[in-house]
Amino acid sequence: MRSSFTLCISMVVVLLVALTANLCDAGEATKPRKPRRRKQAYVPELKDPLAYGNEFVEVTEHNTFRRRYHDLDYEKDLAFYMKEAKANAKLHEPNTMKMLMVFCKDIRVTSEELKDENGDPVSGVNSASDEVIKNAPADLQQMADLVFAYSRGAIKVEWQIEVIKETLHHNTAAKAPKTGWWFNPTSIVDELMEPLAKYKDAGIDFMFFHCGAAIVDEDTRFNIVHGGMAWSEGWIYGARTLTVSKTKLQLVTHEWLHHIVDINIVRIEGLQLWRMHASGVLGFGKNDLGWAGHLAAYTVRVRYFYPRDMWRRWDLHKEPGPKEPFTDKAYAWDDVKYDCWLKLPELGNAELAQLTGLKTLEIVPTPKESYTFFKVAPDETLASPRTDDAKPEDASLNNVIAFTRESAAVLHTKTGHWLFVKPDLANLYVDMPRFHKGTYSPLPVYGYVLEGFKPLIVIKAPASLKVPANELGYFKK
Ligand SMILES: [Zn+2]
Repeated sequence: MRSSFTLCISMVVVLLVALTANLCDAGEATKPRKPRRRKQAYVPELKDPLAYGNEFVEVTEHNTFRRRYHDLDYEKDLAFYMKEAKANAKLHEPNTMKMLMVFCKDIRVTSEELKDENGDPVSGVNSASDEVIKNAPADLQQMADLVFAYSRGAIKVEWQIEVIKETLHHNTAAKAPKTGWWFNPTSIVDELMEPLAKYKDAGIDFMFFHCGAAIVDEDTRFNIVHGGMAWSEGWIYGARTLTVSKTKLQLVTHEWLHHIVDINIVRIEGLQLWRMHASGVLGFGKNDLGWAGHLAAYTVRVRYFYPRDMWRRWDLHKEPGPKEPFTDKAYAWDDVKYDCWLKLPELGNAELAQLTGLKTLEIVPTPKESYTFFKVAPDETLASPRTDDAKPEDASLNNVIAFTRESAAVLHTKTGHWLFVKPDLANLYVDMPRFHKGTYSPLPVYGYVLEGFKPLIVIKAPASLKVPANELGYFKK
């Protein structure tokens, strides 16, 4: 299978775990070190938001769109979508995702290389405290609520908790005391089989392992790394394995999403619509909407990037049906929106050339850049502004979508007015005629573009509609 090796940049120290290409996260070792210098992300100056139904869309100083939301208070936003999710769940049984949090009460960690003064291997014990175990159900319920509310009631997360009281044994390659080590459950799977035997046929999808903190003397301890790890190749009793040092909402959601977006949806559906440690490429940053950490980006993933019916059919062990072939036809967004990556065709250069009539149209591959560039040779006629120099700072309505600042790119050609829109704002653009005079008829969609892991929905606006000065201009009466 495809290996993934990405590192958590949101934490203080990035720990490289060599030779373990199946790992997906890292955290803080024993002592906080100097924070790494990071490029200042774009912080927009926000204007009055655009009201859209019972939601709002952030408007930047460039009159472009960013996040949509119901309420800028996360708890209120969650409560709003929770209501919708509960109503949906009454009509359609949610898909249950079973999670197990395994507390390894005591783990004896022994260095494979370090010897103490007597020549014995250096060893220490990590223990999970009773308090952490006691607080876990409430912590984990927060994650279950996020997933249920933002998946529109499509996924019901059921948590179970198991405490392994026997002391487990784990060897580490850590070369010095007080260095971090990762607990990889697969490496001691023989020890775990018996205490976890009751879950053999329990249909657990994800097994999280929490290994506490060191409580032995300061000099010889090996600290478990603070953070988490999604093990892309580990399976125990049919479940994918993860390690976490906390049961808090952000960490548990983050590690679980690694399994969803970086590992299993890629494996099962052949789709990478996002990369957990490259949210900046898609324009997402820390504290978006003023919410803690990356909460805003997590909710967008669960609600818009992985739409409702994808969650309903989600299964670790099943592939979806065949994908929609390209036939040059228009789709009603309402018919496809809950499973758009399966029900819409993927559009590459050839398909886009056919749709737009632009023979030289090329989606320039820029997987590491925070933009997608629709390049058109200068001798082809375009009724919309164009640039030949794509930049991440682009904020004008043209053939480039820069994800930190914009929500759409546009190509106005002889065949129509083509918009390439971020998935989380697709239905806003489809609903554009609601903001105009005249009879309402939603705009048709034709497919999606996936350059790198940057998905865009392709929407056709009326040819008679002139390209406005900026994105907000599309939504003026
Ligand atoms: Zn991570």
